[in-house]
Amino acid sequence: MNSYEKLVNLAARRSIFYPASEIYTTTPAGLYSYGPYGVSIRHKLLDLWRKHFVREDDMIEIDGALVMPAAVLKASGHLGKFSDPMTVCRKCSVVHRADKVLTEATGHEYREAQTNEELTDALRKHAVKCPACKKGELADVTRASLMVEALVGAGKKHECYLRPESCQSIFTDYLRMTKTMRVKLPFGMAQYGKMFRNEISPRQTLLRQIEVYVAEIEVFFDAKQSGIPKFDAVKDYSVNIQRSDQDAITPVLAADLLKNKIVSYEVIAYYLARTQMFFEKLGIPVDHMRFRELADDERAFYAKEAFDFEVKTSIGWVELVANNYRTDYDLTVHAEGSKKDLSFVDEKGRVLPHVWEISVGFDRTFFVMLELALKEEKERTYLSLPSAVVPLHAGVFPLLSNKPEQVDKAKSVYDQLKGCYELFYDASGSIGKRYARMDEIGVPFCITIDFDSIANDDVTIRERDSTKQMRVKTAQLRDTMFALITGQRKID
Ligand SMILES: [Zn+2]
Repeated sequence: MNSYEKLVNLAARRSIFYPASEIYTTTPAGLYSYGPYGVSIRHKLLDLWRKHFVREDDMIEIDGALVMPAAVLKASGHLGKFSDPMTVCRKCSVVHRADKVLTEATGHEYREAQTNEELTDALRKHAVKCPACKKGELADVTRASLMVEALVGAGKKHECYLRPESCQSIFTDYLRMTKTMRVKLPFGMAQYGKMFRNEISPRQTLLRQIEVYVAEIEVFFDAKQSGIPKFDAVKDYSVNIQRSDQDAITPVLAADLLKNKIVSYEVIAYYLARTQMFFEKLGIPVDHMRFRELADDERAFYAKEAFDFEVKTSIGWVELVANNYRTDYDLTVHAEGSKKDLSFVDEKGRVLPHVWEISVGFDRTFFVMLELALKEEKERTYLSLPSAVVPLHAGVFPLLSNKPEQVDKAKSVYDQLKGCYELFYDASGSIGKRYARMDEIGVPFCITIDFDSIANDDVTIRERDSTKQMRVKTAQLRDTMFALITGQRKID
């Protein structure tokens, strides 16, 4: 079993995430719920993203509506164009994504951007059979719209869709921000929320879903003066780059990204460095990361330069962030569509800003972070998560649940600390099982009350990764926990 499968099993066992509406058999594939520990980890991840990007880079954050009128998506180019190639089995009627079926069957890379005719010819040439029933012939390739329709309005329905990209909310709200929020170019607009895509035969759990959390940033800048004052802070930081015409992944200094014309603007070099730095904070090793430059035929229609930020996992490289130089495409089409002037106006004059996009697939980031944190030792499985993203700070246990004095003391420790820390009180089953449960969801410490605790008024603290233990007086427990959680102190 690879780490991907092990994590899916662990997630089900501890209800970190699981199929949505699972008590009904009619639920479509590709919909997932997060359980209590999953929600907690995801919120911590979001706090870290907010601190790293929104706060440290002085951005503004919005939360746009999920339902969008057709006019927005007509202007953006999604309506009609936003589709994947599909093919249906003539025997079992299962729908497949044509490019994926071909890539798997032939070992050559086929892409969604290829025409229906090219993909149909390839299916015939290689006599590809249905991967589901292994027998059926596949029908000619057609396009399936990825847009999820929404029936909005009582009585008369408006033509609306659930947003297929969260950035469209940023573009529709940009004008208001320029008038009310005292922003100066360059500035970032951030948003965390859901987007929706009718994926063809979704699988791979959180890696390919219908509803997706995205943490998105659009940085608006003047293409004529694209310097960024904070660039000096990252210029000596190395970013892992894979050029579109090379196999090698090369560390390149942020300053050299610009000098060697790998990117066209300082603002782009700055944010490539800042993006890699964010993933280092999640505990992902730098040698598992790359920015893969997309070739001309791989980029989305709006992108002039694009790098997929990918992380190496047990099932190969997984794209976590789409980084796109969208030029002034979006503001141009929305200015036309809405008949509003979307220029940025200040004392220097009037300019239509260009956009650098950092679109973090949040569920994927969550999943990959957990997969890489998953460790196994002899009899033990644990998630070695950085303390900033743990679901709880500590478990609190009496060693023996049939000793009332231990139970009472454990409960009083729990009550004293729960205003400061996120804790889980557990008195059932063996102490080994209780430790195992906390280890598996990544809780960094366990506080145990034993025989000696009653006489000495102290507790034992056990650390997750090393399993080392220390005794601490109850009166010092709150401060000691703070020092341990913030890394100021270690158990040795
Ligand atoms: Zn079939």
